[in-house]
Amino acid sequence: MLEIIPVPAFADNYIWLLRKGNKVVPVDPGDAAPVIAHLARDRLELAAILATHHHGDHVGGIPALLARSPVPVYGPARETIPGRTHALSEGDTILVPGIDLELAVLDIPGHTAGHIAYLARDEEPSLLFCGDTLFAAGCGRLFEGTPAQMVASLAKLAALPDTARIYCGHEYTLANLRFAAAVEPANARIGERRTREQAKRERGLPTLPSNFAEERATNPFLRTEEPGVRAAAERHAGHALDGSTAVFAEIRAWKNAF
Ligand SMILES: [Zn+2]
Repeated sequence: MLEIIPVPAFADNYIWLLRKGNKVVPVDPGDAAPVIAHLARDRLELAAILATHHHGDHVGGIPALLARSPVPVYGPARETIPGRTHALSEGDTILVPGIDLELAVLDIPGHTAGHIAYLARDEEPSLLFCGDTLFAAGCGRLFEGTPAQMVASLAKLAALPDTARIYCGHEYTLANLRFAAAVEPANARIGERRTREQAKRERGLPTLPSNFAEERATNPFLRTEEPGVRAAAERHAGHALDGSTAVFAEIRAWKNAF
């Protein structure tokens, strides 16, 4: 039985621990200390490490974890990942040691140039670990990629079924929903979701994982084809926008300054 445990790190990061029996595989361990504390408390063993992209708050803990136990490190082929033993890109499939989990690799550039996602297709529902590309009700900033790349990456992810669970790298949901409500004030699903997610945060619970049914209904970055989203983007831009990439770029710039 696979268990997925959120380990909060820094101000708003999540390190996802994939656990089966006493074996644990962290996704994006930006900090080693909370992972080591979890391992020690439950007498668990590190079996491998997965990284989605090269940012320090996702890979900074890898050297300290490797110093404790040298395990395979899976990461994007096109980025520098500390201790990486397996360089991955689209089309690769890995069997994660220790937890016997098969993961497909997707290239999802935009936030960073070589960003990858891990998809457990055979789990029911499917599980997606997508780092800082798709967030609950939002998406990552474009540090190294273009709007067109991010639109293509999000479209690739959005092809997954409604029930697929989304494990992303940050607890940004409430701020993202506040922005989503500004883009689509008439979208009742956004208001309902804000109430639900707010209640989780008040109880100290993560708002994650999300799923694609929820994101398709409330995430403005997946809704650039919606007339209401386009109209809001055009009002913000002060002129007509040609195509969903232009709508996406305007909404992304709007969110950056929100
Ligand atoms: Zn990042």
